[in-house]
Amino acid sequence: MGKFNKVTFIGFGLINSSLAHVFKSKSLAKETCAYSRRKETRNKIKKLKIVDNVYDDIKKSVKNSDLIILGVPVGAMKKIVTIIASSLESGAIITDVGSVKKELVDSIPLVLPNHIHFIPGHPIAGTENSGPESGFSELFKGRWCILTPGQNTSKTALAKVKNMWIEAGMQIAIMDAEYHDRVLAITSHIPHLVAFSIVGTVTELEDQLKTEVIKYSAGGFRDFTRIAASDPVMWRDVFLNNSEAVLEMLGRFIEDLTALQKSIRWQDGESLEKLFTKTREIRKGIISEEQD
Ligand code: NAP
Repeated sequence: MGKFNKVTFIGFGLINSSLAHVFKSKSLAKETCAYSRRKETRNKIKKLKIVDNVYDDIKKSVKNSDLIILGVPVGAMKKIVTIIASSLESGAIITDVGSVKKELVDSIPLVLPNHIHFIPGHPIAGTENSGPESGFSELFKGRWCILTPGQNTSKTALAKVKNMWIEAGMQIAIMDAEYHDRVLAITSHIPHLVAFSIVGTVTELEDQLKTEVIKYSAGGFRDFTRIAASDPVMWRDVFLNNSEAVLEMLGRFIEDLTALQKSIRWQDGESLEKLFTKTREIRKGIISEEQD
Protein backbone atom coordinates (compact mmCIF):
# COMPACT_ATOMS: atom_id res chain seq x y z
CA MET A 1 0.00 0.00 0.00
CA GLY A 2 1.21 3.57 -0.74
CA LYS A 3 2.25 5.34 2.41
CA PHE A 4 0.33 8.27 3.81
CA ASN A 5 2.40 11.43 4.34
CA LYS A 6 0.90 12.50 7.61
CA VAL A 7 -1.90 10.84 9.56
CA THR A 8 -3.66 12.66 12.39
CA PHE A 9 -5.57 10.70 15.01
CA ILE A 10 -8.23 12.93 16.57
CA GLY A 11 -9.12 11.41 19.92
CA PHE A 12 -6.82 8.70 21.16
CA GLY A 13 -8.78 6.04 23.01
CA LEU A 14 -9.04 2.28 22.49
CA ILE A 15 -9.67 2.36 18.74
CA ASN A 16 -7.34 5.12 17.54
CA SER A 17 -4.48 4.01 19.82
CA SER A 18 -4.87 0.44 18.51
CA LEU A 19 -4.74 1.77 14.96
CA ALA A 20 -1.69 3.89 15.83
CA HIS A 21 0.08 0.67 16.91
CA VAL A 22 -0.69 -0.74 13.45
CA PHE A 23 0.60 2.41 11.71
CA LYS A 24 3.81 2.22 13.73
CA SER A 25 4.49 -1.48 13.31
CA LYS A 26 3.74 -1.41 9.58
CA SER A 27 5.14 2.08 8.86
CA LEU A 28 1.93 3.12 7.11
CA ALA A 29 2.67 6.88 7.28
CA LYS A 30 5.78 9.05 7.10
CA GLU A 31 4.51 11.05 10.09
CA THR A 32 1.95 10.10 12.74
CA CYS A 33 0.22 12.66 14.98
CA ALA A 34 -2.37 12.66 17.70
CA TYR A 35 -4.65 15.33 19.10
CA SER A 36 -6.49 14.89 22.37
CA ARG A 37 -8.34 17.62 24.28
CA ARG A 38 -7.15 16.75 27.81
CA LYS A 39 -3.58 17.29 29.02
CA GLU A 40 -3.71 14.07 31.05
CA THR A 41 -4.49 12.06 27.90
CA ARG A 42 -1.80 13.87 25.90
CA ASN A 43 0.80 13.01 28.55
CA LYS A 44 -0.24 9.35 28.41
CA ILE A 45 0.07 9.37 24.61
CA LYS A 46 3.58 10.88 24.80
CA LYS A 47 4.66 8.16 27.23
CA LEU A 48 3.44 5.41 24.90
CA LYS A 49 5.73 6.65 22.08
CA ILE A 50 3.52 5.25 19.34
CA VAL A 51 3.06 8.53 17.45
CA ASP A 52 5.67 11.07 16.35
CA ASN A 53 3.88 14.21 17.57
CA VAL A 54 1.15 15.05 20.08
CA TYR A 55 -0.83 18.27 19.64
CA ASP A 56 -2.96 20.36 21.98
CA ASP A 57 -4.13 22.51 19.05
CA ILE A 58 -6.56 20.63 16.85
CA LYS A 59 -6.20 22.93 13.83
CA LYS A 60 -2.40 22.64 13.86
CA SER A 61 -2.66 18.87 14.25
CA VAL A 62 -4.37 18.47 10.86
CA LYS A 63 -2.11 20.87 8.91
CA ASN A 64 -0.62 19.03 5.90
CA SER A 65 -2.33 15.77 6.89
CA ASP A 66 -3.55 13.59 4.05
CA LEU A 67 -5.45 11.30 6.45
CA ILE A 68 -7.46 12.33 9.49
CA ILE A 69 -9.07 9.62 11.65
CA LEU A 70 -11.83 10.63 14.05
CA GLY A 71 -11.80 8.39 17.13
CA VAL A 72 -14.08 10.36 19.49
CA PRO A 73 -17.66 9.70 20.62
CA VAL A 74 -20.13 9.98 17.73
CA GLY A 75 -21.86 13.04 19.24
CA ALA A 76 -18.60 15.05 19.16
CA MET A 77 -17.67 14.39 15.52
CA LYS A 78 -19.63 17.06 13.63
CA LYS A 79 -18.41 19.83 15.93
CA ILE A 80 -14.80 18.70 15.50
CA VAL A 81 -15.08 18.57 11.71
CA THR A 82 -16.59 22.08 11.71
CA ILE A 83 -13.57 23.35 13.67
CA ILE A 84 -10.91 21.72 11.45
CA ALA A 85 -12.66 22.14 8.06
CA SER A 86 -10.80 25.32 7.06
CA SER A 87 -7.39 23.91 8.10
CA LEU A 88 -7.59 20.79 5.92
CA GLU A 89 -5.37 20.28 2.89
CA SER A 90 -7.11 19.93 -0.46
CA GLY A 91 -7.59 16.22 -1.28
CA ALA A 92 -7.25 15.10 2.33
CA ILE A 93 -9.25 12.10 3.50
CA ILE A 94 -11.31 12.19 6.69
CA THR A 95 -12.49 8.86 8.03
CA ASP A 96 -14.03 7.92 11.35
CA VAL A 97 -14.46 4.83 13.51
CA GLY A 98 -17.86 5.71 15.00
CA SER A 99 -20.35 2.99 15.93
CA VAL A 100 -23.28 4.83 14.26
CA LYS A 101 -23.18 5.82 10.60
CA LYS A 102 -26.40 7.41 9.25
CA GLU A 103 -26.21 10.50 11.47
CA LEU A 104 -22.60 11.09 10.39
CA VAL A 105 -23.23 10.45 6.69
CA ASP A 106 -26.04 13.03 6.85
CA SER A 107 -24.24 15.68 8.88
CA ILE A 108 -20.48 15.62 8.19
CA PRO A 109 -20.57 16.41 4.42
CA LEU A 110 -22.61 19.55 5.22
CA VAL A 111 -19.68 21.06 7.12
CA LEU A 112 -16.86 19.81 4.84
CA PRO A 113 -15.46 21.67 1.82
CA ASN A 114 -15.91 19.81 -1.50
CA HIS A 115 -12.20 19.16 -1.89
CA ILE A 116 -12.11 16.85 1.17
CA HIS A 117 -13.03 13.15 0.94
CA PHE A 118 -15.16 11.72 3.73
CA ILE A 119 -15.07 7.91 4.09
CA PRO A 120 -17.25 6.79 7.02
CA GLY A 121 -16.07 3.60 8.70
CA HIS A 122 -16.72 1.30 11.62
CA PRO A 123 -14.27 -1.39 12.71
CA ILE A 124 -16.35 -4.06 14.46
CA ALA A 125 -13.79 -4.73 17.14
CA GLY A 126 -13.53 -3.58 20.68
CA THR A 127 -13.18 -4.27 24.35
CA GLU A 128 -14.76 -2.69 27.42
CA ASN A 129 -11.55 -0.71 28.04
CA SER A 130 -10.92 2.87 27.03
CA GLY A 131 -8.08 5.37 26.88
CA PRO A 132 -4.71 5.42 25.08
CA GLU A 133 -3.12 2.60 27.12
CA SER A 134 -5.91 0.16 26.27
CA GLY A 135 -4.93 -0.09 22.58
CA PHE A 136 -3.16 -3.04 20.96
CA SER A 137 -2.47 -3.78 17.30
CA GLU A 138 -4.12 -7.23 17.36
CA LEU A 139 -7.53 -5.74 18.19
CA PHE A 140 -8.67 -5.71 14.56
CA LYS A 141 -7.26 -9.09 13.44
CA GLY A 142 -9.83 -11.25 11.63
CA ARG A 143 -12.72 -8.85 12.37
CA TRP A 144 -14.95 -6.97 9.94
CA CYS A 145 -14.71 -3.30 9.11
CA ILE A 146 -17.83 -1.75 7.59
CA LEU A 147 -17.40 1.27 5.30
CA THR A 148 -20.46 3.31 4.30
CA PRO A 149 -19.29 5.63 1.46
CA GLY A 150 -21.72 7.83 -0.47
CA GLN A 151 -22.41 7.34 -4.18
CA ASN A 152 -20.01 10.07 -5.33
CA THR A 153 -17.11 8.98 -3.14
CA SER A 154 -13.68 9.00 -4.79
CA LYS A 155 -12.65 5.42 -5.57
CA THR A 156 -9.01 6.24 -4.84
CA ALA A 157 -9.82 7.64 -1.38
CA LEU A 158 -12.05 4.65 -0.62
CA ALA A 159 -9.31 2.22 -1.71
CA LYS A 160 -6.79 3.94 0.58
CA VAL A 161 -9.04 3.61 3.64
CA LYS A 162 -9.88 0.03 2.70
CA ASN A 163 -6.20 -0.84 2.44
CA MET A 164 -5.47 0.74 5.80
CA TRP A 165 -7.99 -1.59 7.50
CA ILE A 166 -6.73 -4.57 5.52
CA GLU A 167 -3.24 -3.78 6.84
CA ALA A 168 -4.78 -3.89 10.33
CA GLY A 169 -5.96 -7.44 9.58
CA MET A 170 -9.63 -6.66 8.90
CA GLN A 171 -12.07 -7.91 6.29
CA ILE A 172 -14.00 -5.16 4.53
CA ALA A 173 -17.74 -4.83 3.92
CA ILE A 174 -19.33 -1.91 2.07
CA MET A 175 -22.81 -1.09 3.31
CA ASP A 176 -25.51 1.53 3.21
CA ALA A 177 -25.29 3.66 6.38
CA GLU A 178 -28.92 3.16 7.40
CA TYR A 179 -28.62 -0.61 6.94
CA HIS A 180 -25.41 -0.61 9.01
CA ASP A 181 -27.26 1.09 11.86
CA ARG A 182 -30.08 -1.50 11.81
CA VAL A 183 -27.62 -4.40 11.79
CA LEU A 184 -25.56 -2.91 14.60
CA ALA A 185 -28.68 -2.07 16.61
CA ILE A 186 -29.37 -5.78 16.98
CA THR A 187 -25.82 -7.17 17.04
CA SER A 188 -24.28 -4.60 19.37
CA HIS A 189 -26.49 -1.79 20.63
CA ILE A 190 -29.39 -3.88 22.05
CA PRO A 191 -27.02 -6.42 23.74
CA HIS A 192 -25.25 -3.48 25.40
CA LEU A 193 -28.58 -1.98 26.45
CA VAL A 194 -29.63 -5.30 27.98
CA ALA A 195 -26.33 -5.50 29.87
CA PHE A 196 -26.64 -1.91 31.13
CA SER A 197 -30.20 -2.67 32.20
CA ILE A 198 -29.46 -5.97 34.03
CA VAL A 199 -26.43 -4.57 35.82
CA GLY A 200 -28.51 -1.46 36.62
CA THR A 201 -31.19 -3.69 38.16
CA VAL A 202 -28.56 -5.13 40.52
CA THR A 203 -27.53 -1.67 41.69
CA GLU A 204 -31.11 -1.23 42.93
CA LEU A 205 -31.14 -4.47 44.95
CA GLU A 206 -30.95 -4.47 48.74
CA ASP A 207 -27.38 -4.72 50.12
CA GLN A 208 -27.40 -8.40 51.20
CA LEU A 209 -28.69 -9.62 47.83
CA LYS A 210 -26.23 -7.38 45.98
CA THR A 211 -23.34 -9.02 47.88
CA GLU A 212 -24.57 -12.49 46.85
CA VAL A 213 -24.88 -11.42 43.21
CA ILE A 214 -21.27 -10.25 43.13
CA LYS A 215 -20.07 -13.40 44.97
CA TYR A 216 -21.85 -15.79 42.61
CA SER A 217 -21.50 -13.66 39.45
CA ALA A 218 -19.84 -16.47 37.45
CA GLY A 219 -23.37 -17.79 36.84
CA GLY A 220 -23.78 -15.37 33.91
CA PHE A 221 -24.00 -11.93 35.49
CA ARG A 222 -20.22 -11.47 35.24
CA ASP A 223 -20.35 -11.50 31.43
CA PHE A 224 -22.95 -8.72 31.51
CA THR A 225 -20.80 -6.62 33.88
CA ARG A 226 -17.94 -6.74 31.38
CA ILE A 227 -20.15 -5.28 28.66
CA ALA A 228 -21.77 -2.80 31.06
CA ALA A 229 -18.34 -1.48 32.05
CA SER A 230 -17.93 0.11 28.59
CA ASP A 231 -17.39 3.86 28.25
CA PRO A 232 -20.56 5.74 29.37
CA VAL A 233 -20.14 8.73 27.03
CA MET A 234 -19.46 6.58 23.97
CA TRP A 235 -22.59 4.53 24.66
CA ARG A 236 -24.74 7.53 25.51
CA ASP A 237 -23.91 8.89 22.05
CA VAL A 238 -24.61 5.54 20.35
CA PHE A 239 -28.16 5.45 21.73
CA LEU A 240 -28.85 9.15 21.11
CA ASN A 241 -27.62 8.93 17.51
CA ASN A 242 -29.11 5.55 16.55
CA SER A 243 -32.42 5.95 18.35
CA GLU A 244 -34.65 5.01 15.40
CA ALA A 245 -33.05 1.63 14.69
CA VAL A 246 -32.55 0.86 18.38
CA LEU A 247 -36.18 1.60 19.21
CA GLU A 248 -37.37 -0.55 16.31
CA MET A 249 -35.23 -3.53 17.38
CA LEU A 250 -36.06 -2.95 21.03
CA GLY A 251 -39.77 -3.27 20.18
CA ARG A 252 -39.13 -6.68 18.63
CA PHE A 253 -36.93 -7.74 21.53
CA ILE A 254 -39.55 -6.78 24.11
CA GLU A 255 -42.22 -8.77 22.21
CA ASP A 256 -39.95 -11.84 22.22
CA LEU A 257 -39.15 -11.37 25.89
CA THR A 258 -42.87 -11.21 26.68
CA ALA A 259 -43.38 -14.44 24.73
CA LEU A 260 -40.67 -16.07 26.88
CA GLN A 261 -42.34 -14.73 30.00
CA LYS A 262 -45.57 -16.40 28.89
CA SER A 263 -43.82 -19.70 28.16
CA ILE A 264 -42.41 -19.75 31.67
CA ARG A 265 -45.74 -18.81 33.27
CA TRP A 266 -47.56 -21.53 31.27
CA GLN A 267 -44.84 -24.11 32.00
CA ASP A 268 -44.41 -24.43 28.21
CA GLY A 269 -41.10 -26.35 28.27
CA GLU A 270 -41.38 -27.29 24.61
CA SER A 271 -41.26 -23.66 23.44
CA LEU A 272 -38.38 -22.85 25.77
CA GLU A 273 -36.34 -25.84 24.62
CA LYS A 274 -37.08 -25.11 20.96
CA LEU A 275 -35.84 -21.52 21.29
CA PHE A 276 -32.73 -22.45 23.31
CA THR A 277 -31.82 -25.07 20.67
CA LYS A 278 -32.15 -22.44 17.93
CA THR A 279 -30.01 -19.94 19.83
CA ARG A 280 -27.30 -22.56 20.34
CA GLU A 281 -27.04 -22.84 16.55
CA ILE A 282 -26.34 -19.10 16.28
CA ARG A 283 -23.37 -19.54 18.62
CA LYS A 284 -22.05 -22.43 16.50
CA GLY A 285 -22.36 -20.21 13.41
CA ILE A 286 -20.30 -17.46 15.06
CA ILE A 287 -17.60 -19.98 16.03
CA SER A 288 -17.45 -21.45 12.54
CA GLU A 289 -17.09 -17.90 11.09
CA GLU A 290 -14.18 -17.42 13.54
CA GLN A 291 -15.89 -14.38 15.10
CA ASP A 292 -15.99 -15.77 18.66
P1 NAP B 1 -12.27 6.00 24.27
O1 NAP B 1 -11.22 4.96 24.54
O2 NAP B 1 -13.34 6.22 25.29
O3 NAP B 1 -11.54 7.42 23.96
C1 NAP B 1 -12.29 8.52 23.57
C2 NAP B 1 -11.40 9.62 23.02
O4 NAP B 1 -12.27 10.68 22.58
C3 NAP B 1 -10.44 10.23 24.02
O5 NAP B 1 -9.26 10.53 23.37
C4 NAP B 1 -11.14 11.54 24.46
O6 NAP B 1 -10.25 12.57 24.71
C5 NAP B 1 -11.91 11.90 23.18
N1 NAP B 1 -13.15 12.66 23.45
C6 NAP B 1 -14.20 12.26 24.19
N2 NAP B 1 -15.18 13.20 24.15
C7 NAP B 1 -14.70 14.21 23.37
C8 NAP B 1 -15.22 15.47 22.95
N3 NAP B 1 -16.45 15.87 23.31
N4 NAP B 1 -14.45 16.25 22.16
C9 NAP B 1 -13.19 15.86 21.81
N5 NAP B 1 -12.65 14.68 22.15
C10 NAP B 1 -13.39 13.87 22.92
O7 NAP B 1 -12.99 5.76 22.88
P2 NAP B 1 -13.02 4.50 21.88
O8 NAP B 1 -13.56 3.30 22.58
O9 NAP B 1 -11.72 4.42 21.15
O10 NAP B 1 -14.19 4.98 20.89
C11 NAP B 1 -13.95 5.97 19.91
C12 NAP B 1 -14.98 5.83 18.80
O11 NAP B 1 -14.88 4.50 18.30
C13 NAP B 1 -16.42 6.05 19.24
O12 NAP B 1 -17.09 6.81 18.27
C14 NAP B 1 -17.00 4.63 19.27
O13 NAP B 1 -18.38 4.65 18.91
C15 NAP B 1 -16.16 3.91 18.24
N6 NAP B 1 -15.99 2.46 18.45
C16 NAP B 1 -15.74 1.99 19.71
C17 NAP B 1 -15.58 0.62 19.90
C18 NAP B 1 -15.32 0.06 21.27
O14 NAP B 1 -15.56 -1.13 21.52
N7 NAP B 1 -14.82 0.84 22.20
C19 NAP B 1 -15.66 -0.26 18.80
C20 NAP B 1 -15.85 0.27 17.53
C21 NAP B 1 -16.03 1.63 17.37
P3 NAP B 1 -9.71 12.98 26.17
O15 NAP B 1 -9.19 11.71 26.81
O16 NAP B 1 -8.63 13.98 25.89
O17 NAP B 1 -10.89 13.52 26.91
